[in-house]
Amino acid sequence: MASLRRKPSPRLLALLVGLVLLAASTAAQTPTQPRVHWLDPYRETAARLIKTATADDFAWRRLAELTDTHGNRLSGSENLTRAIAWAADTMRKDGLENVRLEPVMVPKWVRGRESAEIVDPPRHPLAILGLGGSVATPPNGVEGDVLVVNSFDELRSRGAEAKGKIVLFNAPFTTYSDTVTYRTGSARAAAQYGAVASLVRAVGPIGLRTPHTGSVNYGQSGPQIPAASISVEDADRIARLLARGQRVRVRLFMEGRFEPDAESANVVGEIRGRERPEEIVLIGGHLDSWDVGTGASDDGVGCIVTWEAARLMTSLGIRPRRTVRVVLFTNEENGLRGANVYAERHAAHASNHVFALESDSGVFEPASLGFTGSPAARNMVREIGTLLAPLGLSEIVSGGGGADVGPIAQAGNAPTMAYLGNPGRYFAIHHTPADTVERIAAEEVSKAAAAIAVMTYVIAEMPERLPR
Ligand SMILES: [Zn+2]
Repeated sequence: MASLRRKPSPRLLALLVGLVLLAASTAAQTPTQPRVHWLDPYRETAARLIKTATADDFAWRRLAELTDTHGNRLSGSENLTRAIAWAADTMRKDGLENVRLEPVMVPKWVRGRESAEIVDPPRHPLAILGLGGSVATPPNGVEGDVLVVNSFDELRSRGAEAKGKIVLFNAPFTTYSDTVTYRTGSARAAAQYGAVASLVRAVGPIGLRTPHTGSVNYGQSGPQIPAASISVEDADRIARLLARGQRVRVRLFMEGRFEPDAESANVVGEIRGRERPEEIVLIGGHLDSWDVGTGASDDGVGCIVTWEAARLMTSLGIRPRRTVRVVLFTNEENGLRGANVYAERHAAHASNHVFALESDSGVFEPASLGFTGSPAARNMVREIGTLLAPLGLSEIVSGGGGADVGPIAQAGNAPTMAYLGNPGRYFAIHHTPADTVERIAAEEVSKAAAAIAVMTYVIAEMPERLPR
């Protein structure tokens, strides 16, 4: 997942777009791969799954129903509880088997009201989102001069200036895994130097003045200060003012708080295996989301496309040798309790998990399938991937799994796969009010469901389990 560093020039962007288009057209012209004979018994069913999935926009409409009816779904919210009940009910109507809720206690963080403004110079409301798990400000807010730093190193060297100030971490977005360290770690770092609050430049490419929320991590000890994300545009403005030698004062008001843990659940539905029901091919995403937007991309769509893979098989009367299990996990965003409770509850059967696939990286073109496992398993999965040529997804890249399937896959040493959407489009709306179903194309949802259905079907059906 390469991504652009700094600000590319328009000419460079145009060149890159050209190269991508060229690569795409070349890929489309690539002659079909040599025929893999062991796959012959699965070709007809795979073709039927692809044809059925891509015949209409059923999956997208289901995603719209989920997000329109239940909205965003933060752990502990009534929205999430209702979405869980709806999903289980709808899975039963689909004809999935053993549909059940596996209870999980989840943390409940409530945002409350929040606002921030530059009070001088001149008064200017900031586009902010408190970070999940943040503490509140005092009831009248907190006011301070701003210190801008571009990195943790810069904070260390200017630590003496941070006391009593609001520290703004203004690191430009490179890759999510690199830049997110500022969202998770900035409040803890700033507090060590006596800062009164921490602001972080939104972790995403430049958007439409959209702050991005997500968890803050205060660590085990030390003072906890309020932490919020501000839009790229506001962060840049503050940085420019300070660079001109001007003093910038900001007032921040936040009410974030934890309430007692709440009851929640993982939603589980299956197609029981006809010969080896104890062997499990696990697919899923997470049903919880942040409390802004409607959690369509993160990760309503991941739930829908994996669930849809099982629904397609059921609707076509396909019952593979092994059990196909769909799990819509709870609390991925701010606790991972759903993933951990699943791994604990099924610990005795961890080694029966023969494969685990997660969709939690968006469903955006161009997409790919990522895999982690032994070379023997990778070879087989690559060959199965040739069945996805009609979807343009035949190449399997490295890097499978996900936060939710991780604990059980690790315990059972199971090979893992991830459905990987275009990261540029995914991170543009990630954890923002702009994460809505409008951003996601119906054909892409159908295509993802088809690819996951074919991969899942073959792995659940083939005579020997996928090698570890
Ligand atoms: Zn997610």
